Amino acid sequence: MNKPKIVILGAGYGGIITSKKLEKLLKSGEADVTLINKHDYHYITTQLHKTGIGTAADRQIAMSIPELIDISKTHFLKATVTHVDTDNQEVQLEGGETVNYDYLLIALGFEGQTFGIPGVKENAFELRSFRSSKAIYHHIKKQLNLYKEDQDPSRLTFVVAGGGFTGIELLGELADGLPKLCKEHNVPFEKVKIIGIEAAPSVIPFFPKQSVEYTTEVLRKLNIQLITSTKILGCTADKIILENNIEVPAKTLVWSCGVQGNTIVQKWGLPIEKGKLAVDSYLRVKNTKNVFSIGDCSLFMKDDKTSLAPTAQVALQQAPVCAKNIVASLRGESLTSFEYHHKGSVASIGLSAGVGKVGTVRLSGLIGAFMKLVIEARYLFNLGGPSLILKQHFGVNREQVKVTVKQ
Ligand code: FAD
Ligand code: NAD
Repeated sequence: MNKPKIVILGAGYGGIITSKKLEKLLKSGEADVTLINKHDYHYITTQLHKTGIGTAADRQIAMSIPELIDISKTHFLKATVTHVDTDNQEVQLEGGETVNYDYLLIALGFEGQTFGIPGVKENAFELRSFRSSKAIYHHIKKQLNLYKEDQDPSRLTFVVAGGGFTGIELLGELADGLPKLCKEHNVPFEKVKIIGIEAAPSVIPFFPKQSVEYTTEVLRKLNIQLITSTKILGCTADKIILENNIEVPAKTLVWSCGVQGNTIVQKWGLPIEKGKLAVDSYLRVKNTKNVFSIGDCSLFMKDDKTSLAPTAQVALQQAPVCAKNIVASLRGESLTSFEYHHKGSVASIGLSAGVGKVGTVRLSGLIGAFMKLVIEARYLFNLGGPSLILKQHFGVNREQVKVTVKQ
């Protein structure tokens, strides 16, 4: 008898942890598992602000997928998914190859949300993937080099759009990392301007008032200029256009004004709500029995009105339940409903400060920064045990990851 084929699309947080759980749950020879991802590395999205400014080595953030999985149990395929044909249970890949499945997990993550604002797609950078973060790093270095030739101050103006968690983490990292980069390029750091622009009246507007005040104060102490209650209306390669006829001359804009699910999944004839794959309580795409979806490209309703936020925390809680339900489906056993338990949120503001809330406890300062490190270490531990933590943090593997394309 042919073994059932399980195919996982995406080796981000949701996809890679599901494949690792399947390695544990499946009996030898019970199913063939294939993990498909467009790159052969898994990256730590929650640390992309560090690659963006060069405060972490490439190999700390991007790690070889074949080294993370058990290749005797999971077949890894480096390929870009272009289409899923659910009638024929077939995944189509760039280049024309196809892969058949009996059970499919779609975990293709997120895309940046630009709201159609003119010039953003063409001129702004994003913290979306490892590649896109490296593009920021190379662009900053280029601006520092060019400044020495033309002394154009707009080359030393670095603007971050959006004061959500992504925005404040990047602002903090820019303040921490730019002095060193300036020194390396022989450019006076005193001439650098770091600006954060937020449409709401404050940064992290969804967080408690004390945390907002603390974050604002830390950013101000880092000499970051915050422009709040001001929407960005557009940008070119040389300036950012704001409400009230304000223009900021700058050659670097990083867009972090929110995310949406990977739009590719909208074209596959599966049920879509709010742009994402609508899933039932078992994490199956609605109206299907053998297609599952987790993480940022899926929509899981907590109750009638609220959906779960696009966070790694959600994808990581969904992954083990999804693995269990795929195995239960192929064995004809009953499935487990997914229940989300929010553990808290913590964001770094550079190396030595952080802000967050765990349970009812508000965190700030060094404790916040430390908590963020603990959360990251915990993830590495789940991914590859203590040896992965040592390898990532004590530099066994420090060579650069090869990236060639802008985003
Ligand atoms: P992803 O992790 O995005 O993985 C999707 C995978 O699919 C990727 O490997 C991608 O290469 C691959 N892929 C995409 N399209 C294709 C294709 N067509 N073919 C093949 N492969 C494809 N959340 C937290 O809980 N805590 C944090 O501290 C935190 N920090 C963040 C910091 C930043 C800068 C950002 C942008 C987000 C952060 N988030 C955080 C949110 C978190 O990163 C996402 O919710 C999480 O990555 C979602 O996981 P996922 O598995 O759904 O998708
Ligand atoms: P977000 O949606 O949380 O924040 C985007 C911000 O951009 C908002 O404050 C919004 O008011 C602002 N904005 C939107 N349009 C604008 C405009 N035209 N001009 C100026 N400002 C504008 O998005 P994010 O920060 O990218 O986060 C995405 C997801 O990733 C969230 O679920 C977040 O919780 C998660 N995340 C978590 C962490 C963490 O836990 N440490 C870190 C980063 C991201």
